[in-house]
Amino acid sequence: MPVPALAPYDDANIFARILRGEIPCRKVFEDDHALAFHDINPQAPVHVLVIPKGAYVSWADFSANAGDAEIAGFVRAVGQVARELGLEEPGYRLLANAGIHAHQEVPHLHVHIFGGTQMGAMLP
Ligand code: 5GP
Repeated sequence: MPVPALAPYDDANIFARILRGEIPCRKVFEDDHALAFHDINPQAPVHVLVIPKGAYVSWADFSANAGDAEIAGFVRAVGQVARELGLEEPGYRLLANAGIHAHQEVPHLHVHIFGGTQMGAMLP
C-alpha cells in the first residue's frame, strides 16, 4: 500500500527494523548517517537501497526537518555507494518515491540505486 509522504514516522516500518538489526539485510555500506543494502525484489542487475539512519518518512520530511550534517552525510553516502559498486561508468539511476502518487511503499526515506544494465528513458 502506498504511504503518504507526510505521515507521522512509524517506528515499526520494515527499514526501521532493518536499522535496529531486527531483520537481516544484504548490507553494502554503512556509516554514521546511512545504511545501504540490496533490495529484496531487485528490478535491475544492481538494485540497492540507501536509507538515512534518522527517522524520516520521505524526501519531503527529510529535506524539511533533517539537519545539514544529516543531509550532507546521506547525499554523500548515496554517491559513495554508487562509486563503490563501480556504477559511475557506464552509469546508474537514482529514484526516490515520495507519497501516494509515486507509490512509496516503505515509510522510511530511501533512494533506489539501479544499475548494471542499459535502462530506457524514464518518463511518468
Ligand atoms: P518504494 O516503493 O517504497 O520506493 O520501495 C520499497 C522497496 O523496498 C521495494 O523495492 C521493495 O522491494 C523493498 N523492500 C521491501 N521490503 C524489504 C525488505 O524487507 N528487505 C529489503 N532488502 N528490501 C525490501
